[in-house]
Amino acid sequence: MTKYIFVTGGVTSSLGKGIIAASLAKLLQARGFTTTIQKFDPYINVDPGTLNPYEHGECYVTEDGAETDLDLGHYERYLNTYTSQANNVTTGRIYQYVINKEREGAYLGKTVQVIPHITDEIKRRMKLLGETNQFDVVITELGGTVGDIESLPYIEAVRQLKWEMGSSCIVVHLTLIPYLKAAKELKTKPTQHSVKLMSEHGLSPDVLVCRTEEPLYKDLKKKIALFCNVTIDAVIEALDADSIYMVPVEMMREKLDVTCLTKLGMPLGKEPDLTRWKEFLNKLRFPKNRVVIGLIGKYVELQDAYKSILEALIHAGAMNECKVEVRNIHSEYLTRENAIEKLQNVDAILVAPGFGSRGTEGKIEAIRYARENKVPFFGICLGMQMACIEFARNVLNMPKAHSTEMDPDTNQGVISMMESQKKVTMKGGTMRLGSFKCTLEEDSASAEIYGGMYITERHRHRYEFNNEYLEAFREAGFTPAGKNPDTDLVEIVELKDHPFYIGVQFHPEYKSTVENPHPLFVAFVKAAIEAQKEKAPAHSLKNTALV
Ligand code: GLN
Repeated sequence: MTKYIFVTGGVTSSLGKGIIAASLAKLLQARGFTTTIQKFDPYINVDPGTLNPYEHGECYVTEDGAETDLDLGHYERYLNTYTSQANNVTTGRIYQYVINKEREGAYLGKTVQVIPHITDEIKRRMKLLGETNQFDVVITELGGTVGDIESLPYIEAVRQLKWEMGSSCIVVHLTLIPYLKAAKELKTKPTQHSVKLMSEHGLSPDVLVCRTEEPLYKDLKKKIALFCNVTIDAVIEALDADSIYMVPVEMMREKLDVTCLTKLGMPLGKEPDLTRWKEFLNKLRFPKNRVVIGLIGKYVELQDAYKSILEALIHAGAMNECKVEVRNIHSEYLTRENAIEKLQNVDAILVAPGFGSRGTEGKIEAIRYARENKVPFFGICLGMQMACIEFARNVLNMPKAHSTEMDPDTNQGVISMMESQKKVTMKGGTMRLGSFKCTLEEDSASAEIYGGMYITERHRHRYEFNNEYLEAFREAGFTPAGKNPDTDLVEIVELKDHPFYIGVQFHPEYKSTVENPHPLFVAFVKAAIEAQKEKAPAHSLKNTALV
């Protein structure tokens, strides 16, 4: 029978519930249990696809084309298994379903209410993955913080499930133990309050994971256990870590997995086998090289906007035993005049995905710089589209070249909207989404990097390379190295006579995991290392000044 672990958060947001949930899942997986993680988000949007990065950070896309919360990215990166639409549910989705059922007349004249109709639908979805019989343990992360008005139906649903399932269901509560510098003391009161708040709703945590800057000494753990009604082994210290990838090891030291399994009445399985994970950590912590990669985007000031790209660079860096320092370069402020000053000290250039025209001219300038100076270049989605525009404008002599997204009236639309997209009026969930096949050209750099010709990658966009211009590009050495075999859409572009110049219409970053770093990112970091070696020593000295 599938067991359920719910992860809630208290005191404040941003404590890292997703990382704790993923770390616990990793440890259970390493003990031989099958496990998955799902996230329930309490906002009214049906999915985060319509939220901009200022609101919600990156939108993560799964194989089946679900636009989801970025925590699903952590789940996949840690577990090395796929998630799907079923792994991310929002209040909007729950209400949409219940309201549609009401319109169908399914409630037979009843008043439709938060309790029981909304909570029943929450419970049904919480059990959905468990009922597939594929998993020994389903971990459910509840978005938001206990005490939020919008979280209440979720807390109530978990209360009911705990009542129904007994010891097959436990709650892990992530909380903060702040350190007051002036008093030189760790404070437990906010945690006590947050547990009390939960208990007012009939729910009490079985395990407390305590985020802290300072180690929790024994007496403090005792005090927390006493005031919060948990056993002392269930007070887990979660010290701030240098890297999110250290957290599973920290949680193993604190026996979070053992405590949870014991409380669920499960056998402990084998000792967790984290050999590959630790190999990765060693490479991450003791790099032999260091490169600087310029990340060109309009959201670089937000730490979550390009989450999967940053993580993929970390995976690829470790694979190359190289520390990747990302230099954030705001595309809006990058111009032809300052391109040299801003880009001369980076070893490689990555142009980020995006929507809308803000910052696109800066992206084009960065790509021109990379092409002309033979700096390794990697363009993702909008980054690839801007590479096509840059090449058309500056090499193919098409001054008006653009994407019809930014300039709907251009007569040189080298990037244009797919026919199938032209009739679409609704914004939510209507892009080209999820996994699509791609066939690589035999002699392409991509085929060599992937080590084969047939791949699948995840997409999230509306615009495409316009095949009317394909021959002109190809003749000039700019080749469609990968195409969709069913639709003939260009998925990868490459430039000949360049050390590394690859643009991809898809998002390879979504598929990079700790155990399977993405080959394109690995090759890109490798190209950055080579590029650095070829530079004068004085140049690499300049790299130390990071912006
Ligand atoms: N805005 C572009 C499109 O819709 C690129 C999207 C992206 O970078 N994800 O095609």
